[in-house]
Amino acid sequence: AKKNPNEPEFMQAVMEVAETVIPFIEENKKYQNKMLLERMVEPDRTIIFRVVWIDDKGDTQVNRGYRIQMNSAIGPYKGGIRFHPTVNLSILKFLAFEQTFKNSLTTLPMGGGKGGADFDPKGKSDNEVMRFCQAFMTELSKHIGANTDVPAGDIGVGGREVGYMFGQYKRLRNEFTGVMTGKGISFGGSLIRPEATGYGNVYFVQSMLATRGESLSGKTIVVSGSGNVAQYAAEKATQLGGKVVTMSDSAGYIYDSAGIDAQKLAYIMEIKNELRGRISDYITKYPDAKYVAGKRPWGVKCDVALPCATQNELNEEEAKTLVANGCICVGEGANMPTTPEAVIVFQKAKTLYSPGKASNAGGVATSGLEMSQNSLRLNWSSEEVDERLKEIMLNIHASCVKYGTDSSGYIDYVKGANIAGFVKVADAMLAQGVV
Ligand code: NDP
Repeated sequence: AKKNPNEPEFMQAVMEVAETVIPFIEENKKYQNKMLLERMVEPDRTIIFRVVWIDDKGDTQVNRGYRIQMNSAIGPYKGGIRFHPTVNLSILKFLAFEQTFKNSLTTLPMGGGKGGADFDPKGKSDNEVMRFCQAFMTELSKHIGANTDVPAGDIGVGGREVGYMFGQYKRLRNEFTGVMTGKGISFGGSLIRPEATGYGNVYFVQSMLATRGESLSGKTIVVSGSGNVAQYAAEKATQLGGKVVTMSDSAGYIYDSAGIDAQKLAYIMEIKNELRGRISDYITKYPDAKYVAGKRPWGVKCDVALPCATQNELNEEEAKTLVANGCICVGEGANMPTTPEAVIVFQKAKTLYSPGKASNAGGVATSGLEMSQNSLRLNWSSEEVDERLKEIMLNIHASCVKYGTDSSGYIDYVKGANIAGFVKVADAMLAQGVV
């Protein structure tokens, strides 16, 4: 904490890993006296830069851009780009740190990184977003490459933004390479990549439920967020027989007791992805649903909760409410959405609870598959990518069970994911010497 003042999110992510990994190191001589965790919490490199662009009025705007290159022991740096006004060094370091463990869990050769800017895409015209992306990539392009660092999307960065950034990279370098993932299908993107994080989260939840002989069929599901991850988590959960009753954004949530079926979800996708509107617009078309302003959806009774919006969006009180309402499973689609106090509530109640680094790893795993396809100059079918995604999520679940099952049989997915993620990175670092 002394080395990193004013970085609460980064401290939170490190503490959570340290609490489970330090006892493991103490039991395993191989990992002792090598300062492994100390090395892992220090980024290989942190790049902070000025991003200057011209808005539609002709005025000059200045933002701050970042890329955290956290760890490259097992592959090129890999992790998303976030555009949101709250972006700062602490948030990106927490995300890059988590990403290192997550990428290790996927079994694919990817190191950890994260980047972004304090740019707010809300209310900006398409041209403004394009000019911002071009200005951002003008500097970022000096630090990334298909074998060095391969960024992707995250909050505020979807297919549109990835396209603009990829276009600028290609223009600057005169090179068509797989330097970014989440690209459009016409220029090297992978089928199923947009769906992958949400689908993967639901596949993981299926595996968790199966450990208790349960399935998603007939379950009531509360989803937070209405962006990329939330949309496809809702879609897959519905396809598997669940009833999704809420979705949200930063202004509030909608509750539809009849369930957000495929047709209603298509409308949410239109609102959020095309009209770039708010979740509250849902009730103009579906007036039987309720819109609750300024609240999060955790008070709604459910069997399964899928937090898919942002960090620290589910606190201790809300966790207690979920448990009291009979929620048996929480699968994190977002990164670190549950506060540390809330995690303890779930673990004490023996709720099936998975940290994002395990259950949302399907996104980056499919980005890894996009990189493979780019290297091979081939495109796999949706079925093939989806099959591989399912298999990867099953493997991650098995790793969590291997390292996280306690003497009572309860699976501590936090412990399991942290130790499994740590082992591979640590082995690679040890083999590569003191670097
Ligand atoms: P999007 O930008 O597509 O959607 C974000 C959603 O979360 C929106 O509904 C947004 O509402 C809401 N949200 C964002 N910030 C806040 C906030 N401060 N408070 C409340 N709600 C908020 O992002 P994604 O769906 O891609 O990402 C969601 C989460 O999933 C993030 O934690 C991300 O790191 C994680 N993730 C994403 C992956 C991916 O492949 N995209 C992969 C793995 C993890 P509003 O529109 O009002 O801002």
